[in-house]
Amino acid sequence: MTAAAGQPVLLLKEGTSRTVGREALRANILAARILAETIRSSLGPRGMDKMLVDSFGDIVITNDGATILKEMDVQHPAAKMMVEVAKAQDDEVGDGTTTSVIIAGELLKQAEDLLLQDVHPSIIIEGYKKAMDKALKIIDEIATPIDPTDKEMLKKAGITSLLSKAMIVGAIERLTEMAVDAILQVAEKKEGKWFVDIDNVKIEKKEGGSLDDTKLVYGIVLDKEVVHPGMPKRVEKAKIALLNCPIEIEKTEISAKIHITSPEQMRAFLEQETEMLKKMVDKIAEVGANVVICQKGIDDVAQHFLAKKKILAVRRVKESDMAKLAKATGARIVTSVDDLTSEDLGEAELVEERKVGEDKMIFIEGCKNPKAVTILVRGGTKHLVDEAERSLHDALCVIRNLVREPKIVAGGGAPEAEVAHKIRDWARTLKGKEQLAALKFADAIEAIPLTLAENAGLDPVDIMVELRSKHEKGEKWAGIDVIKGKVSDMWERGVLEPASVKKQAIKSGTEAAIMILRIDDVIAAAPPSKEEKEKGEKETY
Ligand code: ADP
Ligand code: MG
Repeated sequence: MTAAAGQPVLLLKEGTSRTVGREALRANILAARILAETIRSSLGPRGMDKMLVDSFGDIVITNDGATILKEMDVQHPAAKMMVEVAKAQDDEVGDGTTTSVIIAGELLKQAEDLLLQDVHPSIIIEGYKKAMDKALKIIDEIATPIDPTDKEMLKKAGITSLLSKAMIVGAIERLTEMAVDAILQVAEKKEGKWFVDIDNVKIEKKEGGSLDDTKLVYGIVLDKEVVHPGMPKRVEKAKIALLNCPIEIEKTEISAKIHITSPEQMRAFLEQETEMLKKMVDKIAEVGANVVICQKGIDDVAQHFLAKKKILAVRRVKESDMAKLAKATGARIVTSVDDLTSEDLGEAELVEERKVGEDKMIFIEGCKNPKAVTILVRGGTKHLVDEAERSLHDALCVIRNLVREPKIVAGGGAPEAEVAHKIRDWARTLKGKEQLAALKFADAIEAIPLTLAENAGLDPVDIMVELRSKHEKGEKWAGIDVIKGKVSDMWERGVLEPASVKKQAIKSGTEAAIMILRIDDVIAAAPPSKEEKEKGEKETY
């Protein structure tokens, strides 16, 4: 029996909205494109910065695609997918985020044209996929292999990644040299291949001074000071205990009362506490530690005893720093002073408290494992220090990528222009509508040199004609020289980038576009009513 005519069949909750087919696709493409348009103007060395203000009024000024998208708090589901692309790109290679989002947006824009010509989304997707595979192959073919320890090459690539960060422009050279040294210090060669764990490079920020005061420290720097003025400020041949328990008398969970009726009793009680703390300190001294780094608190009385034993102590250190210290010094983090043994101790040539600007910081240098370094970033304002940190992260990632996959291409949109040129040739081998999609793919990739030109205030039409003709003549590194404002050989200009960043940007951009093109049905739950919201909040807290 079927339902009686006119009887509605309710499948979804009341208030659920549904958009189907082309309508859904159109709305998603629009949202994703708007997002891509927003960050388009920040691509390249002549790109603009964005100022983002969050709901608390905090301001972030940046040129970094991933950061812009993270701070924007995007709501639309398709636009959110674009944010995911940027995140994926950032996690994989740490650079090329703006590029990947622009490519995704452009692929969707081109897809819209095809949809209007009645090409089915699945054919577009097929064409895009084939073109993407071809594009990755083309990049591999045109890339030049380098020696992964060639400092000059690494530096050039690092500098290219920082040229778009206007705020730190004066310090680019120095920051990049530091990043190269840091990465080569932590790089390891295993079975003929290089590995780099970027977590071994710690970035510590301290406002004050200028960017030029930024330093590379061969060891670990903690934003902490020695807890007691009586303790040594400098310990050579340090034996370091790492504790993640407090050096305090632990309060009982249950509330208990003790009745004290005489001053003697009072004294006896306090003495007992002191005695317990003294025992803990004795134990630390006994195993041979002369430095204690504690994740929790250290009681005043314990500090006094530690000072008497000439032990340098630091308290309330972040968990992430504890892990880095353990790795660097070879120490084992101990959860109870009772369990501490001499084998748990780590080693460093020197632990010292030094003045940095107005503050004090702890430097742990000459660690047992030299594969741990810190870049101590200085700068006049918080915004500057923060942008310097983000930029350093990009440079570190770029240099790491190159050491891992030592293949280099020129920048300035040259590889994208070459990919577009070669794809147009190759597309002839495809049949019918797939060929149309592949040609559109070439147009989309060309958006990178086009955007670089636009952002530099150049006439895009003239310059793109020139760029195309140079690539047709076989000048594979012809790109947009935004500094000189013309088409140049970007290899000769020394604007170099890792091939892996370019490949990943094309990959993540295409994958995002495909993901959005596949959706033909959006079923959105109604936003919770006021009562439901309140109920939900109560349940979660
Ligand atoms: P992304 O987030 O994608 O890395 P950027 O704002 O860092 O975006 O810009 C990167 C682009 O700028 C790359 O295509 C790179 O080749 C280009 N670029 C960098 N330096 C130059 C330069 N001197 N001339 C032209 N293009 C450059
Ligand atoms: Mg970049």
